[in-house]
Amino acid sequence: MTKRQPLIAGNWKMNNNHFEAIALVQKLAFALKDKDYDNAEVVVLPPFTDLRSVQTLVDGDKLRIGFGAQDISAHDKGAYTGEISGPMLAKLECSYVLVGHSERREYHNEDDAVVNSKVKAAFKHGIAPILCVGEGLEVRKAGQQVEHVLSQLDGALKEIPAEQAEKIVIAYEPVWAIGTGEVATPEDAQEVCAAIRVRLAELYSSEVSGAVRVLYGGSVKGDNAGDIMAKDDVDGALVGGASLKADEFAKIIRFNE
Ligand code: PEP
Repeated sequence: MTKRQPLIAGNWKMNNNHFEAIALVQKLAFALKDKDYDNAEVVVLPPFTDLRSVQTLVDGDKLRIGFGAQDISAHDKGAYTGEISGPMLAKLECSYVLVGHSERREYHNEDDAVVNSKVKAAFKHGIAPILCVGEGLEVRKAGQQVEHVLSQLDGALKEIPAEQAEKIVIAYEPVWAIGTGEVATPEDAQEVCAAIRVRLAELYSSEVSGAVRVLYGGSVKGDNAGDIMAKDDVDGALVGGASLKADEFAKIIRFNE
Protein backbone atom coordinates (compact mmCIF):
# COMPACT_ATOMS: atom_id res chain seq x y z
CA MET A 1 0.00 0.00 0.00
CA THR A 2 1.21 3.55 -0.72
CA LYS A 3 2.66 5.26 2.31
CA ARG A 4 0.53 8.31 2.95
CA GLN A 5 2.27 11.45 4.18
CA PRO A 6 0.39 12.88 7.18
CA LEU A 7 -1.20 16.26 6.54
CA ILE A 8 -1.91 18.83 9.24
CA ALA A 9 -4.05 21.67 7.90
CA GLY A 10 -5.06 24.76 9.86
CA ASN A 11 -8.46 26.23 9.07
CA TRP A 12 -8.22 29.78 10.37
CA LYS A 13 -11.89 30.43 9.58
CA MET A 14 -12.72 34.18 9.72
CA ASN A 15 -9.74 35.15 11.88
CA ASN A 16 -6.62 37.27 11.25
CA ASN A 17 -6.24 40.26 8.94
CA HIS A 18 -3.33 40.21 6.49
CA PHE A 19 -0.85 41.68 8.99
CA GLU A 20 -1.85 39.16 11.64
CA ALA A 21 -1.61 36.41 9.03
CA ILE A 22 2.02 37.27 8.32
CA ALA A 23 2.82 37.30 12.03
CA LEU A 24 1.16 33.92 12.60
CA VAL A 25 2.92 32.22 9.68
CA GLN A 26 6.26 33.68 10.85
CA LYS A 27 5.63 32.42 14.39
CA LEU A 28 4.74 29.00 13.05
CA ALA A 29 7.88 28.83 10.90
CA PHE A 30 9.90 29.83 13.97
CA ALA A 31 8.23 27.14 16.11
CA LEU A 32 8.89 24.35 13.60
CA LYS A 33 12.16 22.47 13.28
CA ASP A 34 13.38 20.82 10.07
CA LYS A 35 12.34 17.35 11.23
CA ASP A 36 8.76 18.52 11.85
CA TYR A 37 8.30 19.04 8.12
CA ASP A 38 9.39 15.43 7.58
CA ASN A 39 6.77 14.33 10.09
CA ALA A 40 3.86 15.94 8.27
CA GLU A 41 2.92 18.24 5.44
CA VAL A 42 1.97 21.58 6.99
CA VAL A 43 -0.76 23.72 5.45
CA VAL A 44 -2.60 26.86 6.52
CA LEU A 45 -5.97 27.95 5.17
CA PRO A 46 -6.33 31.69 5.83
CA PRO A 47 -9.21 33.97 4.77
CA PHE A 48 -9.13 35.16 1.13
CA THR A 49 -7.86 38.63 2.09
CA ASP A 50 -4.70 37.11 3.61
CA LEU A 51 -3.73 34.82 0.75
CA ARG A 52 -1.55 37.26 -1.19
CA SER A 53 0.41 38.17 1.94
CA VAL A 54 0.89 34.53 2.91
CA GLN A 55 1.94 33.64 -0.64
CA THR A 56 4.54 36.44 -0.70
CA LEU A 57 5.95 35.39 2.68
CA VAL A 58 6.07 31.67 1.88
CA ASP A 59 7.61 32.34 -1.52
CA GLY A 60 10.09 35.02 -0.36
CA ASP A 61 11.35 33.09 2.68
CA LYS A 62 11.14 29.67 0.98
CA LEU A 63 9.01 28.36 3.83
CA ARG A 64 7.92 24.74 3.74
CA ILE A 65 4.40 25.73 4.75
CA GLY A 66 1.70 25.18 2.15
CA PHE A 67 -1.45 27.24 1.93
CA GLY A 68 -4.90 27.24 0.46
CA ALA A 69 -8.32 28.83 0.64
CA GLN A 70 -11.46 28.11 2.64
CA ASP A 71 -13.90 28.14 -0.27
CA ILE A 72 -14.04 28.29 -4.07
CA SER A 73 -16.73 29.39 -6.50
CA ALA A 74 -18.24 26.75 -8.75
CA HIS A 75 -17.89 29.32 -11.57
CA ASP A 76 -14.75 30.54 -13.33
CA LYS A 77 -15.81 34.18 -13.80
CA GLY A 78 -18.77 36.48 -14.25
CA ALA A 79 -21.65 38.02 -12.32
CA TYR A 80 -21.21 36.24 -9.00
CA THR A 81 -20.76 39.08 -6.55
CA GLY A 82 -18.56 38.25 -3.60
CA GLU A 83 -17.26 34.97 -4.93
CA ILE A 84 -13.65 33.95 -5.56
CA SER A 85 -12.88 31.71 -8.53
CA GLY A 86 -10.58 28.77 -9.12
CA PRO A 87 -8.42 30.74 -11.61
CA MET A 88 -7.94 33.47 -8.95
CA LEU A 89 -6.86 30.91 -6.34
CA ALA A 90 -4.61 29.10 -8.81
CA LYS A 91 -2.92 32.40 -9.71
CA LEU A 92 -2.17 32.85 -5.98
CA GLU A 93 -0.60 29.37 -6.02
CA CYS A 94 -3.08 27.86 -3.60
CA SER A 95 -2.41 24.13 -3.35
CA TYR A 96 -5.58 23.31 -1.44
CA VAL A 97 -9.11 24.51 -0.91
CA LEU A 98 -11.65 23.49 1.70
CA VAL A 99 -14.91 22.30 0.19
CA GLY A 100 -18.10 21.46 2.05
CA HIS A 101 -17.04 22.59 5.52
CA SER A 102 -20.00 22.12 7.87
CA GLU A 103 -20.15 25.88 8.48
CA ARG A 104 -20.68 26.43 4.74
CA ARG A 105 -23.19 23.61 4.55
CA GLU A 106 -25.10 25.09 7.50
CA TYR A 107 -24.85 28.88 7.05
CA HIS A 108 -24.65 29.01 3.24
CA ASN A 109 -26.99 26.13 2.42
CA GLU A 110 -24.37 24.20 0.50
CA ASP A 111 -25.83 20.82 -0.39
CA ASP A 112 -24.07 17.83 -1.96
CA ALA A 113 -24.69 19.15 -5.50
CA VAL A 114 -23.01 22.49 -4.69
CA VAL A 115 -20.15 20.67 -2.95
CA ASN A 116 -19.74 18.44 -6.01
CA SER A 117 -19.58 21.47 -8.34
CA LYS A 118 -16.90 23.04 -6.12
CA VAL A 119 -14.85 19.83 -6.06
CA LYS A 120 -14.98 19.90 -9.87
CA ALA A 121 -13.98 23.58 -9.96
CA ALA A 122 -10.97 22.92 -7.72
CA PHE A 123 -9.70 20.02 -9.84
CA LYS A 124 -10.29 21.98 -13.04
CA HIS A 125 -7.72 24.50 -11.82
CA GLY A 126 -5.21 22.09 -10.34
CA ILE A 127 -6.13 22.72 -6.70
CA ALA A 128 -6.60 19.75 -4.36
CA PRO A 129 -9.93 19.88 -2.53
CA ILE A 130 -10.02 19.10 1.18
CA LEU A 131 -13.53 17.71 1.21
CA CYS A 132 -15.24 17.96 4.61
CA VAL A 133 -17.87 15.44 5.62
CA GLY A 134 -19.41 14.71 8.99
CA GLU A 135 -22.58 14.05 10.90
CA GLY A 136 -24.50 16.21 13.37
CA LEU A 137 -25.36 15.16 16.89
CA GLU A 138 -28.80 13.74 16.08
CA VAL A 139 -27.35 11.48 13.40
CA ARG A 140 -24.61 10.34 15.76
CA LYS A 141 -27.13 9.60 18.52
CA ALA A 142 -29.12 7.52 16.02
CA GLY A 143 -25.95 5.59 15.13
CA GLN A 144 -26.24 6.64 11.48
CA GLN A 145 -22.85 8.37 11.18
CA VAL A 146 -21.33 5.99 8.63
CA GLU A 147 -24.35 6.04 6.29
CA HIS A 148 -24.57 9.83 6.56
CA VAL A 149 -20.91 10.43 5.78
CA LEU A 150 -20.83 7.93 2.91
CA SER A 151 -23.84 9.57 1.33
CA GLN A 152 -22.07 12.98 1.53
CA LEU A 153 -18.99 11.35 0.00
CA ASP A 154 -20.95 9.79 -2.87
CA GLY A 155 -22.60 13.15 -3.62
CA ALA A 156 -19.34 15.08 -3.57
CA LEU A 157 -17.52 12.61 -5.83
CA LYS A 158 -20.18 12.33 -8.54
CA GLU A 159 -18.50 12.28 -12.00
CA ILE A 160 -15.03 12.77 -10.47
CA PRO A 161 -12.63 10.47 -12.35
CA ALA A 162 -10.13 8.24 -10.55
CA GLU A 163 -7.09 10.29 -11.63
CA GLN A 164 -8.58 13.28 -9.81
CA ALA A 165 -10.09 11.36 -6.90
CA GLU A 166 -6.69 10.01 -5.87
CA LYS A 167 -5.56 13.59 -5.21
CA ILE A 168 -8.48 14.56 -2.98
CA VAL A 169 -8.10 14.92 0.77
CA ILE A 170 -11.10 13.97 2.88
CA ALA A 171 -11.65 15.45 6.31
CA TYR A 172 -14.02 13.58 8.57
CA GLU A 173 -15.34 16.26 10.89
CA PRO A 174 -18.22 15.29 13.16
CA VAL A 175 -20.18 18.53 13.50
CA TRP A 176 -20.71 17.98 17.25
CA ALA A 177 -16.92 18.01 17.73
CA ILE A 178 -16.16 21.21 15.82
CA GLY A 179 -15.26 24.08 18.13
CA THR A 180 -16.90 22.36 21.10
CA GLY A 181 -13.91 20.90 22.89
CA GLU A 182 -15.64 17.54 22.61
CA VAL A 183 -13.22 15.49 20.54
CA ALA A 184 -14.24 12.15 19.02
CA THR A 185 -12.58 9.09 20.51
CA PRO A 186 -9.81 7.58 18.38
CA GLU A 187 -12.14 4.60 17.81
CA ASP A 188 -14.99 6.85 16.61
CA ALA A 189 -12.61 8.60 14.21
CA GLN A 190 -11.19 5.30 12.95
CA GLU A 191 -14.66 3.80 12.37
CA VAL A 192 -15.72 6.53 9.96
CA CYS A 193 -12.31 7.11 8.35
CA ALA A 194 -12.04 3.38 7.61
CA ALA A 195 -15.55 3.34 6.13
CA ILE A 196 -14.56 6.27 3.88
CA ARG A 197 -11.56 4.30 2.66
CA VAL A 198 -13.65 1.22 1.94
CA ARG A 199 -16.12 3.33 -0.04
CA LEU A 200 -13.27 4.86 -2.08
CA ALA A 201 -12.16 1.34 -2.99
CA GLU A 202 -15.73 0.51 -4.07
CA LEU A 203 -16.12 3.70 -6.09
CA TYR A 204 -12.65 3.56 -7.64
CA SER A 205 -9.96 1.03 -6.77
CA SER A 206 -7.72 -0.09 -3.93
CA GLU A 207 -4.95 2.12 -5.42
CA VAL A 208 -7.12 5.23 -5.11
CA SER A 209 -8.34 4.25 -1.66
CA GLY A 210 -4.76 3.57 -0.53
CA ALA A 211 -3.53 6.92 -1.84
CA VAL A 212 -6.19 9.29 -0.47
CA ARG A 213 -5.45 10.97 2.84
CA VAL A 214 -8.34 10.93 5.28
CA LEU A 215 -8.04 13.47 8.08
CA TYR A 216 -9.92 13.85 11.32
CA GLY A 217 -11.16 17.27 12.43
CA GLY A 218 -12.99 18.46 15.53
CA SER A 219 -11.36 19.94 18.65
CA VAL A 220 -7.91 18.55 17.84
CA LYS A 221 -5.27 19.85 20.26
CA GLY A 222 -1.64 19.07 20.97
CA ASP A 223 -2.49 16.59 23.68
CA ASN A 224 -5.14 14.54 21.82
CA ALA A 225 -3.65 14.54 18.29
CA GLY A 226 -1.27 11.62 18.82
CA ASP A 227 -3.90 9.09 19.93
CA ILE A 228 -6.24 9.91 17.06
CA MET A 229 -3.53 9.89 14.41
CA ALA A 230 -2.18 6.59 15.68
CA LYS A 231 -5.22 4.96 14.09
CA ASP A 232 -4.59 3.18 10.78
CA ASP A 233 -6.97 5.15 8.61
CA VAL A 234 -6.41 8.62 10.08
CA ASP A 235 -3.75 10.40 8.03
CA GLY A 236 -3.70 13.79 9.70
CA ALA A 237 -5.88 16.52 11.09
CA LEU A 238 -7.93 19.50 10.03
CA VAL A 239 -7.52 21.94 12.90
CA GLY A 240 -9.62 25.02 13.60
CA GLY A 241 -9.15 26.89 16.88
CA ALA A 242 -5.79 25.36 17.77
CA SER A 243 -4.29 26.43 14.43
CA LEU A 244 -4.51 30.07 15.55
CA LYS A 245 -1.80 29.49 18.15
CA ALA A 246 1.57 28.75 16.57
CA ASP A 247 2.92 26.72 19.51
CA GLU A 248 -0.20 24.58 19.84
CA PHE A 249 -0.35 23.98 16.08
CA ALA A 250 3.35 23.02 16.10
CA LYS A 251 2.59 20.55 18.90
CA ILE A 252 -0.08 18.93 16.70
CA ILE A 253 2.41 18.74 13.83
CA ARG A 254 4.72 16.85 16.24
CA PHE A 255 1.80 14.53 17.07
CA ASN A 256 3.90 11.39 17.42
CA GLU A 257 6.56 12.71 19.80
C1 PEP B 1 -12.77 23.10 11.78
O1 PEP B 1 -13.28 24.20 11.74
O2 PEP B 1 -12.56 22.50 10.72
C2 PEP B 1 -12.40 22.53 13.08
C3 PEP B 1 -12.04 21.28 13.14
O3 PEP B 1 -12.46 23.35 14.18
P1 PEP B 1 -11.94 23.05 15.68
O4 PEP B 1 -10.58 22.42 15.57
O5 PEP B 1 -11.89 24.38 16.35
O6 PEP B 1 -12.92 22.12 16.31
